[in-house]
Amino acid sequence: MLFPEYRPRRLRRTDNLRALVRETHLRVEDLIYPLFVCEGEKIRQEIKSMPGIYRFSIDTLLEEVKQAFELGLKAVLLFGIPSKKDETGSSAYAKDGIIQRAVRRIKERFPELVVITDVCLCEYTSHGHCGIVKDGEVDNDLTLEQLARIAVSHAKAGADIVAPSDMMDGRVARIREALDEADFTQVAIMSYAVKYCSAFYGPFREAADSAPKFGDRRSYQMDPANSREALREAYLDIEEGADIIMVKPALSYLDVVKMLREEFNHPLAVYQVSGEYAMIKAASQMGWLEEERILWETLISIKRAGADLIITYFAKKVAELLLKGVK
Ligand SMILES: [Zn+2]
Repeated sequence: MLFPEYRPRRLRRTDNLRALVRETHLRVEDLIYPLFVCEGEKIRQEIKSMPGIYRFSIDTLLEEVKQAFELGLKAVLLFGIPSKKDETGSSAYAKDGIIQRAVRRIKERFPELVVITDVCLCEYTSHGHCGIVKDGEVDNDLTLEQLARIAVSHAKAGADIVAPSDMMDGRVARIREALDEADFTQVAIMSYAVKYCSAFYGPFREAADSAPKFGDRRSYQMDPANSREALREAYLDIEEGADIIMVKPALSYLDVVKMLREEFNHPLAVYQVSGEYAMIKAASQMGWLEEERILWETLISIKRAGADLIITYFAKKVAELLLKGVK
């Protein structure tokens, strides 16, 4: 049936009609809230390029987590900012490291909250690379041992999911093996399976103090021009034992998200990264875009492309909007 008998506008006439035929929904359960935790006390330091996002010390982090929990958020993703860095990033797996203490404190107070930890070296190494540097290059296989140590130390502290973001080859298998050997068979791995070498990470590096001191990350993160390679990366991580796979960043890579959704059955997470947050914030502060509508539209498009989970700095704000029934 064609026009004039068929008229698609009939189902767009009212709010309730539109709600009835809406294909994609955003739920509070879909959201993961990333948080930065640093040493010290009573610290709540706003990140300049990410208005509304802070570095927290553990005491203030617990207040933030409480708010997030009360808004109905189910999961947080923690990034640590240590006070000491060295060549090999050894503070990343210290028993009393910043993440290990933060996880223990969160789990004491909010045992049901899903605590996910970033597993990488870039915040902990003096050179800012995601692995051990040997002869001026990031050495893949040496790095795997460090990553396995970090993952086990996070599991010991009580993490539910470890999330390796380093992009070394073979790290998911090595981490799975180390977790199982240490009797953490129940701890899941969310792998940054498809992580592009992106300029959208700029504000994060200020937040996490993790910019590389020399060179860049092109030798381990993916070339933004490649999508078939994304299938190979995701395939490898799944074969190696990833429980959840991730695409990062989000908006410029929704074709990749859709492709992975069609190819794999594993839960798929997508990271709306710092630069995406900063762009929306900056334009709305200038009065050039409507923040709430833009963030809603970007998140729903990520879900429409096939994401199950979205890691977003807007998580708290979206949870508030959902509670108010805004859609
Ligand atoms: Zn890293």
